[in-house]
Amino acid sequence: MSATKECIALENQYGAHNYKPLDVVLTKGSGIWVEDVEGRRYMDFLAAYSAVNQGHCHPRLVKVLQEQSARLALTSRAFRNDQLPYLAKELCEMSGYEMMLPMNSGAEAVETAIKASRKWGYKVKGVDNNNAEIIVCDGNFHGRTTTIISFSSENQYKDGFGPLTPGFKIIPYGDADALKNAINKNTVAFLVEPIQGESGVVVPPKGFLREAADLCRQNNVLLIVDEIQSGLGRTGALFAYEHENVKPDMVIIGKALSGGMYPVSAVLSSREVLGVFNPGDHGSTYGGNPIACAVAREALKIIRDENLVERSAELGEYLLNELRKIESQYVDFYRGKGLWIGIVLKKNAGGARRFCEALQERGILAKETHENVIRIAPPLVITREEIDQALIAIKEVLTQI
Ligand SMILES: *Cc1c(COP(=O)(O)O)cnc(C)c1O
Repeated sequence: MSATKECIALENQYGAHNYKPLDVVLTKGSGIWVEDVEGRRYMDFLAAYSAVNQGHCHPRLVKVLQEQSARLALTSRAFRNDQLPYLAKELCEMSGYEMMLPMNSGAEAVETAIKASRKWGYKVKGVDNNNAEIIVCDGNFHGRTTTIISFSSENQYKDGFGPLTPGFKIIPYGDADALKNAINKNTVAFLVEPIQGESGVVVPPKGFLREAADLCRQNNVLLIVDEIQSGLGRTGALFAYEHENVKPDMVIIGKALSGGMYPVSAVLSSREVLGVFNPGDHGSTYGGNPIACAVAREALKIIRDENLVERSAELGEYLLNELRKIESQYVDFYRGKGLWIGIVLKKNAGGARRFCEALQERGILAKETHENVIRIAPPLVITREEIDQALIAIKEVLTQI
């Protein structure tokens, strides 16, 4: 049996089937390249949902992980460590926020933002106890915990997992009037992705986030942006909200915060909002551990030192322009920002999966999202030559199969 077949058989037998991955078994990675157990090399055009913006196994991250893990790995927050204070300072200086709260997974950071905004609603805004409402968008993706899936508009994410958490209202994505109408005296927050990733790299109408920010300010509602996938360079800005010149009340980050080296997430906000947490209110054993903080500090420095934000803006524009030159009977349109592009297929294209499988045969790993969108999101360290190489395969797949 081939190594690939053996791994797939073992995973199918012993692992729960909550994913349907492409049948490629990876064993190595470096930069934008990954290698499977048969020795075949691929360009990674998913970058672990933008966790690997800095590229696979970045040598600086490997070094920091090795050094910090040999020095001190975990203290819990019962004691202090000498990495968390510096990550907190560097993150706040980089983003212009006053405070941060570190967690591990993205979903935990979203939960943290939900808890903070509810408590802020009761203690600062004066909402009656247990009446807080948070407005979210149709097509959202904020993670997989029970509370977060409670306000998903995707039935599969909720089916069989009830009873669901109340206190959320869903409006159409990009519809500022709907937001205005949904706000009432109990509204504590509007939670939104500046660009919806899992929904298929959906870019809202220009001005939507700006209007949303104004509405939030006028009504004393917190604007919470989920930048877990869109943040840290992916869209050609450090944070996607910068494209609309707004200053959200809370920013949620994760994924590329560690360059894919370790689970690290965080919530950034003001003293007024994060100040609602008192000792014992909230926490996590691994949140803010020394490895996580050391890795995140280095991951942020890499984004700056290697100009990944600027690269994403320039190369993303180049890639989108080149894609638009491809005439394909299957493509409805292309959309995106920075190195984050959705190829939206027509109904008659037979679904995005078969295109992703054809790309895999040509050495590119991409993942379909929502049946008819091919998502393009390579590590931001990709070069123009590598993009040109990928374009040959993409063109072939979009025009010949
Ligand atoms: C991935 C993602 C999450 C969840 O992060 P996990 O680390 O998988 O829990 C939340 N929001 C957005 C926008 C994401 O892309």
